Amino acid sequence: MATAAAIRTEARAGFQPAFAGAEACSRLREELSDPVLRSSAAFAGAEACSASSRKASRSLTMFFGNLDRLRNTLVWVCERVPFYRQRLLEAGVDPARLDSESLRRIPVLRKADLVRSQREQPPFGELLAVGREAFSSLHTSPGPIFIPRIAEERGGTAALVEEIEAMGVRRGDIAHVTLNYHIMPGGLRIHRAFEEFGCLVINGGVGNTEMQVKVARAWGATVYAGTPSFLRQIGVVAKELGLDTRKDLPYRLGFSTAEKLTPELREELDDTFGIELFDHIGEAQIGPVAGECRAHAGMHLSANDLFFEFLDPVSGEPTEAGGVGELVASHLGPRGLPLIRYAPGDAYRLRAGGCSCGNPAPRVDFFGQVGGIRKIKGVLVHPIAVADLIASHAGLGRFQIVVEHRSGESFERATLRIAAEDPTLLLEARRSVLEAALSNAARSTLLIGMEIELVRPEEIPEAAAGPAFAEAIVESKSPVLS
Ligand SMILES: [Zn+2]
Repeated sequence: MATAAAIRTEARAGFQPAFAGAEACSRLREELSDPVLRSSAAFAGAEACSASSRKASRSLTMFFGNLDRLRNTLVWVCERVPFYRQRLLEAGVDPARLDSESLRRIPVLRKADLVRSQREQPPFGELLAVGREAFSSLHTSPGPIFIPRIAEERGGTAALVEEIEAMGVRRGDIAHVTLNYHIMPGGLRIHRAFEEFGCLVINGGVGNTEMQVKVARAWGATVYAGTPSFLRQIGVVAKELGLDTRKDLPYRLGFSTAEKLTPELREELDDTFGIELFDHIGEAQIGPVAGECRAHAGMHLSANDLFFEFLDPVSGEPTEAGGVGELVASHLGPRGLPLIRYAPGDAYRLRAGGCSCGNPAPRVDFFGQVGGIRKIKGVLVHPIAVADLIASHAGLGRFQIVVEHRSGESFERATLRIAAEDPTLLLEARRSVLEAALSNAARSTLLIGMEIELVRPEEIPEAAAGPAFAEAIVESKSPVLS
């Protein structure tokens, strides 16, 4: 059970407890008499209290961040951006009185809306909050989306500095940044954060692997920042140059981003370098989203300058702890191009419970892009998760899940059909063993029971293949009972 002190800690940190039951609410009300709490303006639980007393024992709003700061930001934005002023007017939302329920009436802004706005009113679209003379830098992300930044925006630096500290980086560490510094914001953003933290930073950038190996060795780089696949490439090239990767490249810690960090890759890179890797996820427009701590059990949300909501990709309802939700983020504080209720199209699983490191910020795992997600038997499934499951068995190719509603049955059936690239897998003796193993794996990792069918490759359409997975999950053509 949460103690008053724990609740105060969470409220100060700007996070609403995952479950704000009636008992917690009365305690939270008592805490309002705490002058530190009142002045911290970091209290996101008040609205949840009134609503949770209506909805009894259900957690109402899975939002994380500082609602007072969001309110102030919305007032600031509506004074400057006619687009948002109109949006809130149409939704009947007074920014100065924003609460968790009126927040949900503000329409979600999608990446496509942002691209369209900038195409129609080039170059910056209709969301600018300041004149061009106030810009201090200009980033670009694929789309293209132009992201002007004003001098007072820290551009995610504060959140990254916290993540760097949580990794165990020390002042004076030598950080080798191998993210792209060209056009995109990633390299410069992490470079600034390492510099601000007190590291000596090498602006490696991408490519030129042999030169990067020489530079990292000459400087004795102790921290790596970049994709895990490029770190692996550094190891390959270093060995070709006759170096001992553990002695000649003294990387101790690694900030891994922009790619999936699988357990296998983590282990392989640790074997090569003796490096402890920390997974991180960020997004070009909104900045750092979440990063791992030393417990390596999910990534903590970085809510310094962002307000997070997670919504069920199918129902649009707030996601509860343990569930999967689409990220909807709002900037906090003045921005050149403020984004309010912005959905980049990514879904995360919210971990339940606290972290052993003591950081009260909720933990998430990246789940996948929202477009590919389907609900099967009431469980959200992403084709990438299925592809990962299948990839751990040799000789298998693309797959297709056929969802079927049979007449007279109240539950869906799902059949996972997988192409056997190795024809010997279709021999009865091998087939039944493999199908049973895959069925168990689906039950334990995807959390649903599925029939498994190994088939010849031509039976699975090309359109089911990744990365688009357009036909990876389909409805059965048999009669549907609705
Ligand atoms: Zn932690």
